[in-house]
Amino acid sequence: MAIQTINPATNEVIKTFEEHTSDQVQQKLKAADEAFQQWKNTGFEERARLMNRCADILEEEAEKYGRIITLEMGKPLKDAISEVQKCAKVCRYYAEHAAEFLKDEEVESGASRSLIAYQPLGVVLAVMPWNFPFWQVFRFLAPALMAGNAGVLKHASNVPQCALAIEEIIHKAGFPKDVFHTLLIGSKAVDAIIENTIVKAVTLTGSEGAGSKVAEKAGSEIKKTVLELGGSDPFIILEDADLEAAATTAVKSRMVNTGQSCIAAKRFIVVEGIADAFLKRMKEKMQTLRTGDPLTEDCDYGPMARQDLAEELEQQVQESIRKGAKVVLEGGHEKGSAYFKPMIIQDPKPGSPAYEGELFGPVAIAFVVKDEAEAIKIANDHKYGLAGTVFTSDQERGLRVARQVETGAMFVNAMVASTPEMPFGGIKKSGYGRELSYIGIREFTNQKSIWVG
Ligand code: NAP
Repeated sequence: MAIQTINPATNEVIKTFEEHTSDQVQQKLKAADEAFQQWKNTGFEERARLMNRCADILEEEAEKYGRIITLEMGKPLKDAISEVQKCAKVCRYYAEHAAEFLKDEEVESGASRSLIAYQPLGVVLAVMPWNFPFWQVFRFLAPALMAGNAGVLKHASNVPQCALAIEEIIHKAGFPKDVFHTLLIGSKAVDAIIENTIVKAVTLTGSEGAGSKVAEKAGSEIKKTVLELGGSDPFIILEDADLEAAATTAVKSRMVNTGQSCIAAKRFIVVEGIADAFLKRMKEKMQTLRTGDPLTEDCDYGPMARQDLAEELEQQVQESIRKGAKVVLEGGHEKGSAYFKPMIIQDPKPGSPAYEGELFGPVAIAFVVKDEAEAIKIANDHKYGLAGTVFTSDQERGLRVARQVETGAMFVNAMVASTPEMPFGGIKKSGYGRELSYIGIREFTNQKSIWVG
């Protein structure tokens, strides 16, 4: 795939970028490693000062950067601006808390003194996706830099201007120039970077296929990975749920980012007594959403990020229908464009894409089940285990169900979202490791035991 900005709302090629050569990549890695040797010795106060400056820039220039996001991947401008503002929050969060999260931990043992020290690893490679092209990067970058690491970014090939803008922000904030670099490279160039001895660890957010390839390579080099991969999050609606709140949240969660979110609710598992009423509301709410030019205020959802992604989704849906899924709300790909009209399909059969895989776009999959036990069974009958939601008016029951669903996170009566305070990540084929919270910042540290005899 060429490294290009193509406006998905118009399919117009805005700009094509030259890939960095392997010599340029080597120079940037070398420079990042040299910068790390100094950076690791800076105090938390200095790191926090720069990270807060970075937050200031993100806040002051949220609209400018939001426009770049919308231009490259098509989300409504208001959502793109919110994404940039959310990045400022994660910068401030780690600026405030990194010192406390990484302070030495004294441990009682047989030693006269023993402690755990959290030390940076060095240059970390981040391979990132286009769907939240700022947020995904900053939730890695803010803790990584605060921990004293250096970073290099291989961003998705359709968001090069976002990748360069992030580099610009870090430099404008006053961080040492080489502590972070964007590499304009395709995915084929990633293996050589993982092999490079300068790179100490890799984080990847993206598809299961990309995660598996990158982890395989990193494994062969004995380098740590954190993987944030796909999801097909269940959204369980029990008979005692507030149906209006459940349907509103369901539609919001399915349609966020035109359905292109790993933690979007994708499978709506509703008990039979309330299924018709719930699906009727969901359908009505989905029909009221407005699309169009994502730069305009009244656009609720934009195009998908690329035409080929909309075509692929259409194929998955058609195959699922051929294999027995019912159509509850008609919609689908608008040929020759990246636009896709929202759909609801129901009761897909095992062996079909809607049952087994991930529909990464505005298609809701409904399952009507007998009771709570069957809802949990369907929720867990999936290779992914990223997150999920349960709606019930009984909080204790919600917590009980939350514990039984096999995911990295469960939300009771709320939409799944990431927030700096809570760890984020999946189980099963959704990946491993955690981002955010004190757990995320420790992922790329040497958790060193120091023993004094
Ligand atoms: P993708 O195709 O896997 O791309 C993600 C990144 O990986 C891009 O930078 C891509 O580069 C790179 N890449 C792809 N194949 C590679 C390979 N063989 N070796 C090295 N790098 C490779 O994913 P996407 O379509 O952009 O994003 C959608 C997927 O990401 C969905 O499955 C979604 O659920 C998942 N996701 C997960 C999370 C999470 O936190 N768990 C968050 C967001 C998205 P190119 O662009 O150059 O191909």
